[in-house]
Amino acid sequence: MKNCPNCNSETEDNFEICWKCNYSFTEGKIIEFKDELPGGKEIDCLRCKVPMHYSGIYKFHEGNKTGLWGNVFEIFVNRESFDLYLCHKCGKVEFFSP
Ligand SMILES: [Zn+2]
Ligand SMILES: [Zn+2]
Repeated sequence: MKNCPNCNSETEDNFEICWKCNYSFTEGKIIEFKDELPGGKEIDCLRCKVPMHYSGIYKFHEGNKTGLWGNVFEIFVNRESFDLYLCHKCGKVEFFSP
């Protein structure tokens, strides 16, 4: 785990974006999601009825099945990568197989 320099949340090492505040570790700043990444689908959060934001493809690596994302990983144990969507209202994360 690494700590987000912006909001100090713990973030999985392989995540390049803080799930809480959208701080990008690769770019060193908070990302605006106005420009959706190519390949994103329009998905609404079931809970909040607001559009979820496409955060790119998340690749799984061995040794990841711990901590916050453990339950998610177990569901997709045979998959390697997923489209990742975030709801900015409730913080829900959804994975979709590409
Ligand atoms: Zn953060
Ligand atoms: Zn939501």
